[in-house]
Amino acid sequence: MNVVRGLKTTFISLLLIASIFYSVIETKALWQIQLPIIEHALYGLFGIIIIFSSQFSRSRFAFLSAVWLLFYFSISNELLWSAWLNSHPQWLFLCGFFIFSFLSLVKDRGVISIHGLGRIIALSLCGVVAFSWQFISIWLLEYLRVKQISTGLESYLAIEFPMIIAGLLLLWRSISTGSLLVIALFISYLVWCLAYYQLLLLPWTIILTLLVCYYLLVVVIDSYFLAYRDELTALPSRRALNQLSLSLGRKYTVAMLDIDHFKKFNDTYGHDIGDQVLKLVASKLAQVKNGGKVFRYGGEEFTVVFSRKDIEQTLDELERLRQSIADYKIVIRHPQRATKQARNNKKNSDLKTVGVTISIGVAQRQNKQGFAQALKVADQALYRAKKNGRNKVSV
Ligand code: GH3
Ligand code: MG
Ligand code: MG
Repeated sequence: MNVVRGLKTTFISLLLIASIFYSVIETKALWQIQLPIIEHALYGLFGIIIIFSSQFSRSRFAFLSAVWLLFYFSISNELLWSAWLNSHPQWLFLCGFFIFSFLSLVKDRGVISIHGLGRIIALSLCGVVAFSWQFISIWLLEYLRVKQISTGLESYLAIEFPMIIAGLLLLWRSISTGSLLVIALFISYLVWCLAYYQLLLLPWTIILTLLVCYYLLVVVIDSYFLAYRDELTALPSRRALNQLSLSLGRKYTVAMLDIDHFKKFNDTYGHDIGDQVLKLVASKLAQVKNGGKVFRYGGEEFTVVFSRKDIEQTLDELERLRQSIADYKIVIRHPQRATKQARNNKKNSDLKTVGVTISIGVAQRQNKQGFAQALKVADQALYRAKKNGRNKVSV
């Protein structure tokens, strides 16, 4: 399921960026006369993305943008090393792969911290590795020649081989994580390759302006998701529920859902299995129909809001949800995780199915009631469902 989501997000991002690049190429006449202004604005944009991404804990973008800035500054000015860069395009190209790949594998950590220093050292090492690879590939070629091993692919060893490895790694990371940030690294890699092979007929000023704007958009969207999505279950969070409550009309029904005896479940199977089960229950609840919207209220409690529905219109659907959770056979590994030894013991790694049930309390908003009051009435109904034996829907 995650892979499908990752694939979808990667595909949509690619499509969006490709169409933006295409339209910019098509409208060359419009921006070409403004190029000197855009050049100046780009430095400002670099400053904004570096500060912005550091502030929003997206340090990978801060480092990536700093590297892009160094690159841009070096190619557009006569610096001490600019001539050297010009004469080593292959090294520069290889550096890109190592940097994109490295950033796709690490986490966002503080910029001005010991981790930040570690990242700067690692990024510099990417340059050293790229430099070394040029010699290693020559040595490998020589070795293959001496051993008279011929695959016919030798000429691709120095550049295309690391390029394909990096591309596959970035694609796999994009799909498996579905993270907008990692996808942006993959897209940056594609742009880097296209520019090297001169298939992207745009000046670097324009390419980098588009990329930096794209990074800014990613930071904004990603931060929005961070604030309004629950990290464990990927459901909208309580903050999103509060936001929705402001836009509800006069008629709606709310349901409070709570997993039964979940504390005991955690005590029996461990908190990690508890988390997995919580995720699976959340994914079942996310399939709510009849116009319901589900939120993680907190802990093992969820809220479903049915806008423009009276209580009778929601009961069948809530009953169906309750039943689907009760019937859900959840397969878990390592039921006994008490000790490390137990985890390593093969006998204990047998698969086991477990089940949980949920209790639901429902309430329709009454005249002059606010959202908080309607929720409170649903909570009281939930309490009755618990008292009546759990695994029930109560009004
Ligand atoms: P009841 O049927 O009355 O609801 O019993 P309960 O044990 O589910 O209720 P209670 O509210 O006392 O305990 C809720 C438990 O849910 C406490 C905690 O162990 C567990 N829990 C809450 N949030 C999480 C979470 O994010 N992950 C895990 N694994 N457990 C959680
Ligand atoms: Mg509870
Ligand atoms: Mg509970």
